[in-house]
Amino acid sequence: MATKLLLTFAICRLIVTVGLTLEPTELLRLGLTVDPFDVESASVDFGLMTKVEPLAVLRPSSAKDVAQLVKAAYESSHGFTVSARGHGHSINGQAQTGTGVVVQMSGVGSGGKPRVWGGDMYVDVWGGELWIDVLKSCLAYGLAPKSWTDYLYLSVGGTLSNAGISGQAFHHGPQISNVHELDVVTGKGELMTCSKEQNPELFHAVLGGLGQFGIITRARISLEPAPQRVRWIRVLYSNFSAFTKDQEYLISLHGNQKFDYVEGFVIVDEGLINNWRSSFFSPRNPVKISSLGSNNNGGVLYCFEITKNYHESTAETIDQEIEALLKKLNFIPTSVFTTDLPYVDFLDRVHKAELKLRSKGMWEVPHPWLNLFVPKSKIADFDRGVFKGILGNKTSGPILIYPMNKNKWDDKSSVVTPDEDVFYLVAFLRSALDNGEETQSLEYLTNQNRQILKFCDEDGMKVKQYLPHYKTQSEWKEHYGSKWDRFQRMKMKFDPRHILASGQNIFTPTFLSSSNMMVMDIPIPIKQKARESIDF
Ligand code: FAD
Repeated sequence: MATKLLLTFAICRLIVTVGLTLEPTELLRLGLTVDPFDVESASVDFGLMTKVEPLAVLRPSSAKDVAQLVKAAYESSHGFTVSARGHGHSINGQAQTGTGVVVQMSGVGSGGKPRVWGGDMYVDVWGGELWIDVLKSCLAYGLAPKSWTDYLYLSVGGTLSNAGISGQAFHHGPQISNVHELDVVTGKGELMTCSKEQNPELFHAVLGGLGQFGIITRARISLEPAPQRVRWIRVLYSNFSAFTKDQEYLISLHGNQKFDYVEGFVIVDEGLINNWRSSFFSPRNPVKISSLGSNNNGGVLYCFEITKNYHESTAETIDQEIEALLKKLNFIPTSVFTTDLPYVDFLDRVHKAELKLRSKGMWEVPHPWLNLFVPKSKIADFDRGVFKGILGNKTSGPILIYPMNKNKWDDKSSVVTPDEDVFYLVAFLRSALDNGEETQSLEYLTNQNRQILKFCDEDGMKVKQYLPHYKTQSEWKEHYGSKWDRFQRMKMKFDPRHILASGQNIFTPTFLSSSNMMVMDIPIPIKQKARESIDF
């Protein structure tokens, strides 16, 4: 009874706030919930920096539920927004909305199980499915998707709305390059199937489209035979140009004589080498940066991370293949660290770190992350100015760096990347702590992110943000450059009332003036919790 009252109260609030003309019974029919737990969890994200409460939450059990809601929003005389939320792993409130309904795509009871088509080598998955569950379903058939993210507790719809990248992207392209077909609910509430052949404009717009053109309810993802095991190798460099030369060499290789995964990270302070991503190193043999020549290099080291997949039947040749590849690289000779593990454990490696951080209360802290695509021609300037300059030998989380080949990205998709054949992902994946250490505070790290962006701008580097975050439309126009006109045209075609994914702050819903939007969608900063120390 109490729940029903709460529901009616909140629906009335929804009606009053956005002036809906729908009857409360109609909204009940749409299956909206205002369960305080659902509303609370939909109002925050992994970034933990802003809070925006939706008016209600929908937990759909099918694409039809999603279409019904979006159609109601599109046809209502005043309008309300609809934001799909995958697993809420955005940083800056991209899946939040204060002027409408959040559609909670991930979670129990949504969508249906992945359906593997072994003969055709693809899998059909619900848009809110987590990649870990896609992997498990495919492995039952001895198959697996080709392109990954480092962390698997992300939703298919969420990563395909950005790009989805990891160390396989140099070869297979991002996840958006490995999709055959999508079902999408557009901003008019129409459920459409699209692919390169069928409704291609919608298909390309949605891939990397930041949720602006439709809600992905099904994705058909390309598969390959799953490897059984992975040889995982880390080698260290003190010389940045040797490091990038070797990374670029490895991503230029084709065929079998190559590694399957190429990433890397920057080590600017000694504590970090035994951190989050380096449970890998033997604790009985901790690495001393000072013993590896980083002192002559502004205290900075670079770790190259590579893997070779194999099947137990080819285990005999794996050592020779790896040795032949490593021979061509110029890392510090005493710095080879190797481990061997099942494929699934390698792909799911970050989850182990998550559990460790959660147990220490270090997961649910603010994450002022910054992800940049840096053109190859500017990466040495970036090293000098940022890794050896702005960071000042202090960091508060991993800094990834790895190159990708532009020809593996389809320029028709909505993502923007630098205009060079090779570009780097540089990802500052930092956690803010309120432990009295100024360099770990949210304010300090946010300010440092601004300095990094300013430095890139003043140096004319033409970097592009990945998982972009801007506050004004003119910044978005600059981000999209020559793609802006098409982006805007597709928005007019597929979401003419600008009701979808308003948390991205690209378009103002047409039922709100910009000033109204400011009042209703204003994020509340989340207060930092005090922590004693950062200890990964
Ligand atoms: P959400 O944050 O819930 O949503 C993101 C955006 O997509 C929102 O605008 C939302 O409205 C929209 N959206 C969500 N679902 C749909 C849908 N079904 N249809 C249409 N639009 C939708 N990214 C990488 O590329 N590589 C990595 O290795 C990587 N590692 C990560 C590790 C961690 C620990 C975290 C927190 C993030 C990582 N990311 C990585 C970033 C990740 O790809 C983004 O956060 C992405 O948004 C996916 O998260 P999500 O599924 O929770 O989406």
